[in-house]
Formats: sequence, structure tokens, C-alpha cells
Amino acid sequence: MTARILVVDDILANRKLLEARLTAEYFDVATATSGAEALAICAREECDLLVLDVMMPGMDGFEVCRQLRKDPATTHLPVILVTALDQPSDRVQGLEAGADDFLTKPIDEIALVARVRSLVRLKMVLDDLRSRASTAVMLGMPDPFASALDEDGSGGRVLLVDDRAASASQIVFALRDKYLVEVVGDPHLAAAKAFSGGHDMVIVSLSLQGFDALRLCGQIRSHERTRQLPILCLAEMEDRTRVLRALDLGVNDFLMRPLDSNELVARVKTNLRRKRYGDKLRENLQASIELAVVDPLTGLNNRRYFETHLSTLVAQAADCGRPLSLMILDIDHFKGINDSHGHEAGDRVLKGFSKRVRKVIRIPDMICRLGGEEFVVVMPDTSIDVAARIAERVRGEIERQRFVVDGASDPISITVSIGLAERGDDNLPDGLFRRADRALYRSKTSGRNRVSADAA
Ligand code: GH3
Ligand code: MG
Ligand code: MG
Repeated sequence: MTARILVVDDILANRKLLEARLTAEYFDVATATSGAEALAICAREECDLLVLDVMMPGMDGFEVCRQLRKDPATTHLPVILVTALDQPSDRVQGLEAGADDFLTKPIDEIALVARVRSLVRLKMVLDDLRSRASTAVMLGMPDPFASALDEDGSGGRVLLVDDRAASASQIVFALRDKYLVEVVGDPHLAAAKAFSGGHDMVIVSLSLQGFDALRLCGQIRSHERTRQLPILCLAEMEDRTRVLRALDLGVNDFLMRPLDSNELVARVKTNLRRKRYGDKLRENLQASIELAVVDPLTGLNNRRYFETHLSTLVAQAADCGRPLSLMILDIDHFKGINDSHGHEAGDRVLKGFSKRVRKVIRIPDMICRLGGEEFVVVMPDTSIDVAARIAERVRGEIERQRFVVDGASDPISITVSIGLAERGDDNLPDGLFRRADRALYRSKTSGRNRVSADAA
């Protein structure tokens, strides 16, 4: 896992030090000497993570952070602030400005590398999601980012694994206003709770009695359902080595005891915001994908899906030397239904029609709504003779029973015209579609409410 890290510091010696350390870990390192230069580099999307000095002339690190967060293009770049001040209040100010983490000078080299690695890992996951989201936007789908950005993590559900009552109640007290905290003392129970889902984050005390809390962190990280769940560790000052182990295991964040409540709240907020952002993006993406291929009125796949999958199905049939037939259906005089019963009744007829066709065809047959009152059914493993019998059954079923729909005083009669074609030796999906469409045209011109098959 490599990444491009931007080191921002006005002092050359500091830049050199960080650059050397990160280059030794095979990160690709760029440097900037001021906040303005850093923002320009980020705007050109030339880095994956910033290690940012707080005290710089002109624009300080806090301000750079705020600027990055304001711009949708850079809002999720991970930022580690580097400061000479080791006051919890400064850390809180940094986290409020949107930094993901802190390092204090003189920089602990191992902590630096562990932090960078942990944040880079997280960024890769989010980048992947974001790139898929951009594809959805390019396809004209609603922007999956838009609502994800509003996510602030409030109401987040936190699982706290701590067997010391005093410590647990301090944490619950600090978080009670914004988050729902569930406390578990028994680590075995904690694992089961985490796997059951329903939490947005886990806080684990590294000093559990008679149990290695790192084992729990490892379990949570490796389990399918909790792989993305943020973990924050609570450690004693002398636990430094175990904190590093924890970060190696994929723990996202840590806090040293004695806990500073403000910092705790700020870190929980940052982790939850990220987690929810990822979840929301994933959810929106799923919805976009569905929108992209599903017709909302009938729940059938749409033309886009049909066009993509017809080629696949034709190629599969050709590979196995099996027949494949295509049926295009167009409801007769549908405009008249809208005119006499209203558009809403028309919509309900379309829904009822799809359901009825679906009942008649077989499960492997793929039915799609091409648009308006036109539908298509792809029938793998079906010769045109068999397809003609199925089409005739569809036609008969539509004609036989009228559609009872809300909003129309009487049941509505409709009929359907159908065109059929079978895969030819050329295996061209477009040609197949054109032949079926021509057959449909013949059904229409020769009186409607009938099935015509392509003669070829
Ligand atoms: P034909 O027998 O020649 O197919 O006549 P038709 O009236 O069915 O065909 P035409 O293509 O002239 O008109 C289709 C009508 O379908 C026009 C439009 O108002 C209606 N329509 C298209 N999409 C929808 C829809 O989503 N809901 C409703 N209610 N009507 C739709
Ligand atoms: Mg029609
Ligand atoms: Mg039509």
C-alpha cells in the first residue's frame, strides 16, 4: 500500500526529517512550504494525505484544514496536524477544524508511520467508493455525495468495551448528549455484540482484566461485517507498544489515559462522521445503481439494462449453441386508455400488465420495460416455435381478463401486439431486436392483438 503524502512545514529541517522518515516507508512524498502552496497542490489532486504543521506564517494549519474541509473536492483528504503544543485544547481545536489526527513535536517516528498507514488505508476504501459514485453521476443519476456530505455522526451508536465502572461512566457521561453508548465489560460478549451489527463505532479499553484487548480488535477488524467499523483504543501511558500493535492491526484511533473528555468527544465525532459518510455513500450508490437499471413504475429492469444484457445473453447462447428468442410487446391503443381513464389509471394498467406477463413467462426469461407501453422479453434456450406459443399465451391472458384499477369506474380492457425473432447465425443483438420490431410492426398493421414472428 503506497500513497502520496504531502508534508507542509515552513521550516526546511522539519520538512527534511518527515520526508526522510516517510520515504523510508516507501511513501511517495511531496513538500510545501506554506498553507497556500499546500491548498494549490491539493486542488490539483496530487496527494492522498497531508502532514500539516500548525504554526506557519500567513495561513496556519488550522485554517488550511478548514479550507480543505470546505471544498467538496478535498473535504475527505486525511490530515495529520503537527504541533509543538501538547495541550488537549489545541488538539480539540485541530479536530474541530477537521483534522483527523495529531502528532506533537518532537515527532515520535513510529507513531507517525502507524498513523499515516491507518489513515491511508481508510482513504483507499473511501476513494474506491467515491470513484464508483462519480460513475453514477456521469450516468446521470442523483449525486450520491450530496447527502452523504451532510452526515455529522450525531445519534451514532457506540459500543464501549471497558470493565472499569468509573472509566465507563466517565465516557458515557461525556458522550451522552450526542451519542448512544452501550457498555460491555465482558470481551467475549463484546465481540458477539459487535458482529451482530447495529453499532457505528467501538471503543476498546486496552487494559481489560484477564483478556488481551488486542485480540478483540483483531477479531473485529477481520470479521466480514465489522471490517469497516471504526475502533478507538484507550491506553495507559505505559502501553505505547501495544498502541502501535493496535494501529498495525487496523485500529483507527487511540486516546491516552487519563482521558480528556473534550478530546474524547472530538475523536468520536471524527470517526463517526467518516463511518457514516462511507455508509451513506455506499447506500446512495446502491440506490443509484438500482435507479440506473430499474424502472420505478413497474420494478422491471429498464432499457439500459436490457441493452447491456442482451449482448451478454446472445453471446452465451452462441457459445453453447443454444437458441434464444426475443419478444417485443406493445399495448394496443394505449393512448386511448389514458384519454378515457386518466394517466394514473394508465400507470396502474402498466403495472398490472407487467405482473401478468411475468406470471406467464418462465423464471429465466428476462422481462424489461423499454419505455412507455413497450416491453421486451428475452427467452434463453427457447426456439421461435416455443416462443410463439408463450407469446400467444401472453396475448390471450391480456385479452381474457380486464384490468381492475383504482380510480377507474369500470375494469379496463386492453390488448397487446407482439413481435418475435430468434437469434440468427450472425449473433448480432441489434439485428435480432430489429427483426422482432419489424414483426411487431406487422402485428400492428395487420389488425393488432396478435403475434407475428420474424420470417428469417
Ligand atoms: P398503438 O396501438 O399503435 O401502439 O397505439 P398506442 O396509443 O398504444 O401507441 P402510441 O405510441 O401512439 O402512444 C403510447 C401512449 O402511451 C402515449 C403515452 O401517453 C402513453 N404512455 C407512455 N408512457 C406512459 C406511462 O408511463 N404512463 C402512462 N399512463 N402512459 C404512458
Ligand atoms: Mg402502443
Ligand atoms: Mg408505442
